[in-house]
Amino acid sequence: MSDYTELLARVSAPEGSGRPIHDPATGAEIGRAPEASVDDLDAAIARARAAQPAWEALGHEARTEILLRAADTIDANAEALAELLSREQGKPLNGPNARFEIGACSAWLRTSATVALEPEVIVDDGEVHAELHYRAIGVVGAIGPWNWPLMIGIWQLAPALRMGNTVVLKPSEFTPLSVLALVSVLNEVLPADVLTAVSGDREVGARLASHPDVDKIMFTGSTATGRRIIESSAGNLARLTLELGGNDAGIVLPSADPQAIAQDLFWGAFINTGQTCAALKRLYVHDSIYDATVEALAEVARTTPMGNGLDEQNVLGPLQNKQQFDIVNRLVEDAKANGGRIVTGGSPATELGELFYPITLVADVADGVALVDEEQFGPALPIIRYSDVEDAVTSANRLDVGLGGSVWGDRDEARAVAARVQAGTVWINSHGGVHPMIPFGGVKGSGYGLEFGVEGLKAVAVPQIING
Ligand code: NAD
Repeated sequence: MSDYTELLARVSAPEGSGRPIHDPATGAEIGRAPEASVDDLDAAIARARAAQPAWEALGHEARTEILLRAADTIDANAEALAELLSREQGKPLNGPNARFEIGACSAWLRTSATVALEPEVIVDDGEVHAELHYRAIGVVGAIGPWNWPLMIGIWQLAPALRMGNTVVLKPSEFTPLSVLALVSVLNEVLPADVLTAVSGDREVGARLASHPDVDKIMFTGSTATGRRIIESSAGNLARLTLELGGNDAGIVLPSADPQAIAQDLFWGAFINTGQTCAALKRLYVHDSIYDATVEALAEVARTTPMGNGLDEQNVLGPLQNKQQFDIVNRLVEDAKANGGRIVTGGSPATELGELFYPITLVADVADGVALVDEEQFGPALPIIRYSDVEDAVTSANRLDVGLGGSVWGDRDEARAVAARVQAGTVWINSHGGVHPMIPFGGVKGSGYGLEFGVEGLKAVAVPQIING
C-alpha cells in the first residue's frame, strides 16, 4: 500500500535531472522522467537476455503463481496508481477512466496468468504423432502510447511474461512516470530483470525495435511509427504485433432507438475524452432518425461533466498533450470551414485549462472532410447523414484503417451489416468494449496480430512441432 507521492518518489528522476512532466489539467509539474540513453537500453536488454532462461525454466505453474501475486500488488496500490495516472495522463479518477484502468490492469494480468495454452495434437493416425507446442520467444520489447499507458503496458507484458519471455518496456515519453510506477509495483514480486522499464525518447524506442537481441516487438501507437518498426524488423527479424491507429465508423440503422442508444454511443466515442484507439470516430446515421440521434447525443454531452480529473464529479478530462489538442482544434476548425454544423462545443474550453476541449458534435459533414477522414483522437465527433445503408457500408470501408466498427439497431439486421465492415472487431449496439478472453487486433492500416486470451498467448510464443 502506498500513496501516489511515494510511488512518484520511487521512479522520478532527481531534481535537476530528467525531464519535467506536467499535469495536463493544471500545467503543474508533477515529477521528472528519467531519460535513459541508448547505452542504458542496451544494458537492460542484456540483463533481460540473461534472466530469460531461468524464468522460462520455472514453468507455467510457478509463473502463474508469481504473476497472480504481481496482480495482488496492483490491487494493493490501486488508488495510488490511479492518482498518479490521473495527474500524469489527465484522465479523471472516476468514470471509465483512471480507477477503471487500474482495475483492468489487474484483471488482464490475472487472465494472462491463468488462461491455458495446451499443446495441440495435429496428426495422430497410428503412423505419425505430431504435436504443436508453444515455447517462449526470448526477449520481448514493449512500446506503448500515452492514452491508456498502464492498461496497454499490461496487455503487452502480461502474456509475454506468462509464456516465459522477459520484457523490456519503453513507455511513451508523455506518460512515463505512471508506467514506471506500475513496473516498480510489479517488481516487488517478479524476479530481477524479468521486467524492466526504460524511460526514454523516440530514439530509445527506435533502438529497442531494431535491437539485434530483441526477438519480438509488441507495439501500440501510430500507424506512422508502426511502419518504421516494420522496416527495422527487416534487420533483426523481430516478430511483430502492431496495434496501430484507427478511425472506427459507427452505423446507426433506421431500426435503432436514438434515446435508448445515446449513452452507449456517447461513451463509445468519448471514453477517455476520445483518446482511445478503438473509439467511435465517425458516426453514420440514417436520415429517418438523424436529427433525433444528434439531439439525444447532444443531451448526454451537455450533462456529462468535464474538468480536473481529481475532482470526483468529473468523468471527462483534458487532452493529454498540446500536440493532440492542436490536432483536434485544427480538425474542428476545418470542419466548420467546410460546412459542418457545431451542435455542442466547437472551440477550446479555456475556462477549464489550456488543454481542455469540450465535447464537440459536428453535424452535416460528409466524407472527404478532414474530421471524417483523419483520426481525431479526441473529443470531436463528425456525424454523417446517409439514406442507403449500402452507402454507409461503403463509407465505413473507404479508409485505409480497420481497427473497430459498430452497427446499431435490430440485432439480426445489424449482424448482417457488421459482416461487411472491414475491421478487426465489429460491435453490435455498443462500441469499444474489450474483454481479456476475446482476441483484439486490427486489419488494413490498423496493424496485424492479435492480443488477449489464447490467441494473445500464441502471439508471444514460437510454435514448435514435436514429431514422433
Ligand atoms: P506514437 O506512434 O507517436 O508513439 C508510440 C510509442 O512509440 C511511444 O512510446 C514512442 O516513443 C515510440 N516511438 C516513436 N518513434 C519510434 C520509432 N521510430 N521506433 C520505435 N518506437 C518509437 O503514438 P502515440 O501518439 O503515443 O499514440 C497515439 C496513436 O496510437 C493513435 O494513432 C492511436 O490510434 C494509436 N493507438 C492504437 C491502439 C491500438 O490498440 N490499436 C491503442 C492506443 C493507441
